[in-house]
Amino acid sequence: MTESVRSSRNLHALNAMESNVRLYSRAFPALFSHARGSFLLTETGDRFIDFLSGAGALNYGHNNHQIKAAMTAYLASDAVVHGLDMATPAKLAFMETFSSVILRERRLSYRFQFTGPTGANAVEAALKLARKVTGRHNIISFTRGYHGLSLGAAAATGNQFYRKASQVALSGVTFMPFDGYLGEGIDAAEYLRNALRDPSSGIDAPAAILLETIQGEGGINVAREPWLRSIQTIAAEIEAVFIVDDIQMGCGRTGDFFSFESAELSPDIVILSKSLSGYGLPLSLLLIKDAIDIWEPGEHTGTFRGNNLALVSATAALNLYWRSAAFSQSIHQMGTLMRQRLNAISAAQGNRFTVRGRGMALGFDCGKTPEIAAVAVRTAYNRGLIIERCGPADEVIKFFPSLTIDPETLNRGLDIFEESLAEAMSQSSAALT
Ligand SMILES: *Cc1c(COP(=O)(O)O)cnc(C)c1O
Repeated sequence: MTESVRSSRNLHALNAMESNVRLYSRAFPALFSHARGSFLLTETGDRFIDFLSGAGALNYGHNNHQIKAAMTAYLASDAVVHGLDMATPAKLAFMETFSSVILRERRLSYRFQFTGPTGANAVEAALKLARKVTGRHNIISFTRGYHGLSLGAAAATGNQFYRKASQVALSGVTFMPFDGYLGEGIDAAEYLRNALRDPSSGIDAPAAILLETIQGEGGINVAREPWLRSIQTIAAEIEAVFIVDDIQMGCGRTGDFFSFESAELSPDIVILSKSLSGYGLPLSLLLIKDAIDIWEPGEHTGTFRGNNLALVSATAALNLYWRSAAFSQSIHQMGTLMRQRLNAISAAQGNRFTVRGRGMALGFDCGKTPEIAAVAVRTAYNRGLIIERCGPADEVIKFFPSLTIDPETLNRGLDIFEESLAEAMSQSSAALT
């Protein structure tokens, strides 16, 4: 039996056992056995460049060896791995490092709430706390927002496919237009302010305003800085808790540690997950302003909060990458390189595509032709590049390489995309004639 026959039998066996709900194993049908940096290897030795990065959970690359060294030393020493939320030296080291390397540098001050390991659990905790603080139930979320799929988080998520899957009425959230949603020249923040001031708008006073500064799943929609500042001001005016969901765009993705630094926001709650552990281990937390930390002990609990191994890898990532400005500068430089190439690729096709984003979170919008995005991504996979789509019709190709990628690999991935898009374009014009 050849290797490739055995491999396709393995994939068949796996698919026969795993639930129909599986997703990425369909788009990328191979058994991936090893990974390092920006590369994923299949069990038969095929090598893929990874522009998906665990949907933003692998900002520092796969199996980052420097981070791994801290973890293996921790494991070898028999230090506490699981301790519920007991006090451990690993947790202390994480909070001290985060406070000095990230918060103090940015003149921010927060308490840490470790939640269950998923992003959705941290979103649930943030919404619960905001409701407790204000005694109000309503949450303002935004069109095309994505906040996870547990019931409270799904209620704040716009996408109908996910909302329907909840199979219950999702309540307690009012959706308002995100920046740009109402078209050029219409200020969506002014609309929100008027609606909240109007006692007959039908919108209950909110406990919180919840947003992503750049919508990841929603299509790499970038909110402008003045809009973000207006929303923060409105939240303060109506005494609602201002929550930034930085699960996907935080931890360096946009070039700064937090996505809201250039807008100079000071959210009441910041939600972090995905790349927080630095190694793809599950770890989520809320940063909470002192004044609103009114939880009763154990009021939002969970078995896996602040897993110590993930705290060790998270601390190592902070020490390795965030003690100087060099990493941030490199993200901005690589992001500029990506943007220039994507713009040139669009220009070569008559500028029919739009490139958006910030730092190394970029979207290539195929607009009214989502089939071109679908074919380009499938073709890219066949040529050795893993990349996914986002947006309401999966029409936006999402460029999420690891932040530690080298320029040569980045360019090689972009070459593959360029060839794949050209092939998708020639297929679609062939279909038209
Ligand atoms: C991924 C994501 C979530 C949900 O995180 P899970 O770990 O999948 O529950 C929430 N908000 C944003 C912005 C995300 O990108």
